[in-house]
Amino acid sequence: MIDSYKHQGLRKQLVDIIREKGITDCNVLAAIGKVPRHFFFDSSFLKYAYEDKAFPIGAGQTISQPYTVAFQSQLLMLTRGQKVLEVGTGSGYQACILAEIGAKVFSIERQKSLYDKAVQFLPSLGYRIKLFFGDGYKGLPAYAPFDKIIVTAGAPFIPDALMDQLKPGGILVIPVGSEDVQEMTTITRISEKDFQKREHGKFRFVPLLENKAREK
Ligand code: SAH
Repeated sequence: MIDSYKHQGLRKQLVDIIREKGITDCNVLAAIGKVPRHFFFDSSFLKYAYEDKAFPIGAGQTISQPYTVAFQSQLLMLTRGQKVLEVGTGSGYQACILAEIGAKVFSIERQKSLYDKAVQFLPSLGYRIKLFFGDGYKGLPAYAPFDKIIVTAGAPFIPDALMDQLKPGGILVIPVGSEDVQEMTTITRISEKDFQKREHGKFRFVPLLENKAREK
């Protein structure tokens, strides 16, 4: 795939749109400007890659809207070298944005076909992201604790395992609610025992599905 001047220009415009919508974190804006989102699209849908919209990626899932990716990334307040767990790899776009910001990214996906595709594709972009096939509700106890955790599917509740896997001072960003609408929520681990919850507005994600890793 080619990252032409045209694509780069479209990406600049996308960054402007996201900035106008209120994203201020320079590292996040730079990452959106850098990662070629059209590489994550099937060739027949390339023209949609730089619209600020979610888009189907197969297996009933979507690549999140760029604004949403930027909003969640900003809430993580990342600094270089931090260890981040993503639940819901999907296309891998969000994971690449986090890697571009300088995070060490661990990402879990429960749909085998999406996991397989990401395992094949992400290394070709030059990002070293550790990918796992499994149930994100459980997090990744073997690699915990994490500085930051991001959930990119709508969760009916906040899984205890994810809170347990945060370092003190760490932040979990998770959309919580019904299938129709979720509240973007941050949980900050203030100390071993204390957590602080904040809400940041309504979003709509595909659901975080429980307990089953799927082979198809
Ligand atoms: N971050 C993605 C968007 C993913 S959409 C991107 O940038 O493209 C949400 C993803 O969460 C879907 O791929 C879905 O299969 C996955 N998912 C849903 N429930 C899950 C679970 N329990 N564990 C891991 N992944 C899950």
